[in-house]
Amino acid sequence: MFWQKLKAKLRQPFIPTWFAASIFKIDYQALKNSGLLFLLYDLDNTLVARDDGQVSDELKVLFSQLKDDGFKIIIISNNWGHRVRSFGANAGVPVFGRAAKPMGWVYKRAMAKMGARRGQTVAIGDQIFTDVFGANRLGLKTILVNPVSQVDLVHTKILRRLERLIIKR
Ligand SMILES: [Mg+2]
Repeated sequence: MFWQKLKAKLRQPFIPTWFAASIFKIDYQALKNSGLLFLLYDLDNTLVARDDGQVSDELKVLFSQLKDDGFKIIIISNNWGHRVRSFGANAGVPVFGRAAKPMGWVYKRAMAKMGARRGQTVAIGDQIFTDVFGANRLGLKTILVNPVSQVDLVHTKILRRLERLIIKR
């Protein structure tokens, strides 16, 4: 009993509030109804494949609908460089690049930039250890999506194996 409780407690920060097949399958109306109007998106493998810098028409439509619907959007990426900056410009949303997810200050800074409170904010990403863990610890709601592409860096691959272990349980 004790060990089970301890295990559950240790696992808790790694469990997203919700799962979604992709960013297009998220129930944004439900988020809005809960007052969750600030969306913190991961970039790589969440909005686009890691090696891709193109903003798809589908994504442009989604973002413009969300903005019309009163949502505030920011992209937070641990990545940096021209691809990250131009992606934000093309998508019409601010980008916080060279971030250090899962560090808590990253989320705090992004939220301060947007004027968001914790109870209004959702972090959306494809990785438990970077996107879910940091946001969970701050008490934000989190959505884990399936990665857009299976092509990953080596260290990401190792993290993904650990993620699969956690998800299985
Ligand atoms: Mg990612």
